[in-house]
Amino acid sequence: MRIVVRNSPGHHLETLTSHEGTALRAWYGNAASREDEAVALAVIRRAKVMDGWIACDCVTEPFQPLLAPIRQERTFTLRRLKSKRLDDHHDEWRPNHASSCPFHIDKDSSPALIDHQFHIRPMPKSDRRHVDPLPAIPDRLANLSERGLPRSAERNDRPSRLGTILWRVLDKAQINIIPPLQDRPEFSLKNQISRFRTAAKHFRVLRTWTFNALISTWAADYWDADSRWQGLLSASRKDWPPAVRRTGFMLLYATSVSAQSIMPASSARVLDVMGKVRQPLRGDPAHRGPYLVLLNADFEDDDNGPARAIQAYAQPVYNSETLFPIESGFERQVSHLLFWLQDALFEMLPDLRIRIVKPLFALEARNGLCRPDFVIEATYRDNPCTTLIIEAMGMETEEYQAAKAKTLPRMEQIGPVFLLTPSDLAKDQAVTSARRLLAWVIEHIRHPTAIS
Ligand SMILES: [Zn+2]
Repeated sequence: MRIVVRNSPGHHLETLTSHEGTALRAWYGNAASREDEAVALAVIRRAKVMDGWIACDCVTEPFQPLLAPIRQERTFTLRRLKSKRLDDHHDEWRPNHASSCPFHIDKDSSPALIDHQFHIRPMPKSDRRHVDPLPAIPDRLANLSERGLPRSAERNDRPSRLGTILWRVLDKAQINIIPPLQDRPEFSLKNQISRFRTAAKHFRVLRTWTFNALISTWAADYWDADSRWQGLLSASRKDWPPAVRRTGFMLLYATSVSAQSIMPASSARVLDVMGKVRQPLRGDPAHRGPYLVLLNADFEDDDNGPARAIQAYAQPVYNSETLFPIESGFERQVSHLLFWLQDALFEMLPDLRIRIVKPLFALEARNGLCRPDFVIEATYRDNPCTTLIIEAMGMETEEYQAAKAKTLPRMEQIGPVFLLTPSDLAKDQAVTSARRLLAWVIEHIRHPTAIS
């Protein structure tokens, strides 16, 4: 990557090191370490001071995609520059980023909406084992521009940071997988939470503190300064670096959430959040929950007050027993159908093992990244596994349809795709659709399609 003159990108100012380029991409893709973030911030600030743009090297043509450093109230960020019209003759002057680049812009979608974009530019899985705590409280007397890390703002289309943490742990714990019935899985809220906790031991917030040690799954702990959770957080006080706020986390099963509050199932009290409770923005909010909520909390500005919830991410789940992640009420209906399918096939073909996966991160297809709604992995005796994709076409907006139209060919490179729409699952159609799906799955297991 290079820093070039603003409005005149042919003029070179500075070549970034490959380390700096990697840090920028990692930051934008939500896969940055704290060190990456510091490097990314330094580069963006430098570009701003030089009044330059950053040219991305994901494209090797003479014209490269451009990023403009933006200084916000307390943070720096990058805006992806694009041609104003699709038929712009200057299109080649501002080409799009390569589809594998985290800065890639999907022209069919609105850049302003956050969570819609998960499907369009899903995140690759990262190997990070570090969980970000809250940054230092901005100090009015300090030069704010120097200490603020680029945070995701509402206008920014990066997915929720807490959401990403939750997904990493859910993925590690395989809570997004319903194993074959032959394995006799037993689901209960208690089991799933304890699987989550086991996985959370693999992640660290500080060198000496695992993510698991700083999580409470009991809402009452929030108000109880004598709880074991708050006790551990007090004990951790000496281990926090000065630039980081002592951060506690809570993982709560909640029947409902609002924009700034959480109604945990384990407490009669409502938990208010200072910032925003973010969630996927798909389908009718009335049918989205229940939720698995991850929140972070500090101890007020002087680090000495009661726990104060700062941000939260609410992941809709199928139900309290499985905590199987879904994104909308319609996806809950589709999951229900898939669980029925798994049952039906188990009765019919006891040697056929069916695994149902809800991918949380991107899968890599030949033409780019995609994130199918559901994946069925079917293995009959010693035969190779057959991968089938189920797409829940639940959104009504044209934007969404267009985005799906673009990612479907990528999914087809991974496996045959079965589409389900809300009308397929309407009362008069549900039985027919279920039979059609069952026949389709059996057909593909008998005669696997060669994926080109
Ligand atoms: Zn790029």
